[in-house]
Amino acid sequence: MGRIVQKFGGSSVADAASIKRVARRILNAKLAGNDVVVVISAMGDTTDELMDLALQVSPQPKARELDMLLTTGERQSAALLAMALSDLGAEARSYTGSQAGVITTGKHGDARIIDITPGRVEQALDEGNVVIVAGFQGVSQTTKDVTTLGRGASDTTAVALAAALGAEYVEIYSDVDGVFTADPRIVPGARHIPVISYEEMLEMAANGAKILHLRCVEYARRENVPVHVRSSFSDKPGTWVKDLPASSTDTEGSKMEQALITGVAHDRTEAKITVVGVPDRPGEAAEIFDTIARNEINIDMIVQNVSQVASGRTDISFTLPSSDGRKAIEVLNAAQEQIKFEELLYDDQIGKVSVIGVGMRSHPGVTASFFRSLADADINIDMISTSEIRISVVVDADQVDAAVRAAHTAFGLDADGEAVVYAGTGR
Ligand code: ASP
Ligand code: MG
Repeated sequence: MGRIVQKFGGSSVADAASIKRVARRILNAKLAGNDVVVVISAMGDTTDELMDLALQVSPQPKARELDMLLTTGERQSAALLAMALSDLGAEARSYTGSQAGVITTGKHGDARIIDITPGRVEQALDEGNVVIVAGFQGVSQTTKDVTTLGRGASDTTAVALAAALGAEYVEIYSDVDGVFTADPRIVPGARHIPVISYEEMLEMAANGAKILHLRCVEYARRENVPVHVRSSFSDKPGTWVKDLPASSTDTEGSKMEQALITGVAHDRTEAKITVVGVPDRPGEAAEIFDTIARNEINIDMIVQNVSQVASGRTDISFTLPSSDGRKAIEVLNAAQEQIKFEELLYDDQIGKVSVIGVGMRSHPGVTASFFRSLADADINIDMISTSEIRISVVVDADQVDAAVRAAHTAFGLDADGEAVVYAGTGR
């Protein structure tokens, strides 16, 4: 008998009727002979609504209390789903993250899973139940307080549980049919990707593709758990994220069909800070990024250049989540005495566009083709960064769509003719 984990996003359980629909889907998996563990998100926009409510009560709610509040969203949907399953004749039991043995660090709002002790889940499965686990939450190993794992992290709960339970695979259900070669709302001819490697999916998720939580992909790769991303609104096969043997992407024979680029991702959530006129001597960059790191701000791209303002000085630009922009400016300003830069520039009207594909490892010229396609579309590149299987550029915010389309076309990813239009959010 197989053991599987299914995760349903908020849009799949937005109201009572959807919960019953999802319950029937789960029942089918159970009747097919599987042991089924379900990880569930909060209904519809519940998490956002709870967050709004908290901010109305208190402008800066205590992180511990916010976690107490937000975890109730998943608790509601888990209990409701268990009720719906019982009415269909399937024994089902719901559990909070803590009850299911999800042990985390103590960082409220962004806790990491340290361990899963799934004793109660195992026992409930052995007794023939469908097990429903509230997603995105756990309990701190040190404080024993309830924690959350970050927005969108029910995906991560699902993969972590699958690894701990030795499940064959995880199904992540949302309202889109899987992963596409670009966001279909920007590129009408974007194509469905049937299979993608963990490393490509990691780059997609890290560079703006919202369909899967980044840490979920990291976890799946580390534990080698295959993930099937699919829609709860159809029976179509979705996208399998799994280990792909190198031969399936690199062999001469498949070169013709093998796309050079697997997908084009974009991200509008970053901002750029330029530290102007930094003295050009050892230790200055270290000082700047120490200051940023001490304040737990993650940075993405970095560029250093000879300064516009004076000789013997450099300008250092970097990107970061725009939600951390204000804090970064504050802490850098406070450090101006030591670092002795001349001024700070801030720009949040930027976007990042990335082309991703393991095919570029063995093919020269991908960078040139990408940049040529942007030049032909009259798009100026502001910053560049690369990994072995990714090239990213920063462009003006209002040119992101055009850049995504240009790259998608240049690498031959456009579907012939027929447009696939999706209204889904991928939640
Ligand atoms: N409900 C949480 C959120 O909206 C977690 C999740 O859905 O994955 O972020
Ligand atoms: Mg999600």
